[in-house]
Amino acid sequence: MTNTFSEEKITQLDQFLANAKSIVITAHKSPDGDSVGCSLALYHYLKKLNKNVVVCHPDIAPSFLFWLDGSKDILTLENHPVEVKSLIANADLIFCLDYNHPNRTGRMEDLLVAAKGKKVIVDHHRDPDTAFADLLFSDTSICSTCQMIYQLIEARNDLRTIDAQIGTPIYCGIVTDTGSFRFSSTSSRTHEIVADLLKRGVKNAEVHESLFDSNSLNKLKMVSYALLEKLVILENYKIAYVWLTAEEEKRFDIVKGDSEGLVNQILAIDGIKMSVFFKESDQIIKISFRSKGVIPVNLFCKEHFEGGGHLNAAGGKYVGNIQDAIKKFVTNLPKFVEDNKALFE
Ligand code: 5GP
Ligand code: MN
Repeated sequence: MTNTFSEEKITQLDQFLANAKSIVITAHKSPDGDSVGCSLALYHYLKKLNKNVVVCHPDIAPSFLFWLDGSKDILTLENHPVEVKSLIANADLIFCLDYNHPNRTGRMEDLLVAAKGKKVIVDHHRDPDTAFADLLFSDTSICSTCQMIYQLIEARNDLRTIDAQIGTPIYCGIVTDTGSFRFSSTSSRTHEIVADLLKRGVKNAEVHESLFDSNSLNKLKMVSYALLEKLVILENYKIAYVWLTAEEEKRFDIVKGDSEGLVNQILAIDGIKMSVFFKESDQIIKISFRSKGVIPVNLFCKEHFEGGGHLNAAGGKYVGNIQDAIKKFVTNLPKFVEDNKALFE
């Protein structure tokens, strides 16, 4: 692999930064710990460099990330359409973080494609849209875009600028995208970087508590209900899935992000190799996939549900009702399991 943060690329970035009077940081829709973390880390870093910078996301982050310093400064296309459109159209430089293709930003896509500013992708997903980016930092071997932001700052010989304000969102994204350092994407380099972040003042225990010990009672009741009433185990396939209708979500009064962990929880069942979660929202069914070992759920997603992602964590969508989405999934399973037989052993 070529050097992700080569001197040439860093020089190019330096030029973009030097020429930019206004900078916008964007990330994918349905924000997560990594996309919000890397946006805020870069935001605080560029502010430290006295840059004029704003973070514009397609939609609002789940509330379990609201504690992050700067999260209240994030403008969303959902809530501030006029302002966000104007900021994107007039930016000299646009950072595209944690997404490989502008279609991952939903309604923001057209604005980004039309924008005249230089576009810099920093991302760890496969198959980046090279035509879209003026400058591309892409590395699928890195656990999180947050780690990439650290390495980008390092490549600019600027590690001294990393304090708790920049380091905390980086730590947050590394923790969430690695499942708290447990996924195989966690490398020795990840641990070295985290060690350095702690030296720079990041309070690791506080981040974990903020992320994981702030569940609402409604959320726990919803999870209990889903596991008791809505879990389906396909024993022959070693696959578990669970599904929630919009009515059920309403009944438990859950908020955005509350159902995110379900798919990981059912993957934790002994003997289960792959898990899926179907969630109804408006007329779209959002589907989350997880797997153990090297079962490529991203390929299944890409082929059947207009999605993609990582080997062990992927997502996609289905337009129609939830029962039909499940039917399509179950119909296409036998071939997928057969094609990946050894991986399901
Ligand atoms: P989640 O299940 O947490 O929503 O998504 C897991 C991963 O799958 C994300 O980190 C992202 O890489 C990928 N992903 C989720 N939804 C989509 C989608 O609609 N399209 C693509 N290409 N990837 C997705
Ligand atoms: Mn990520």
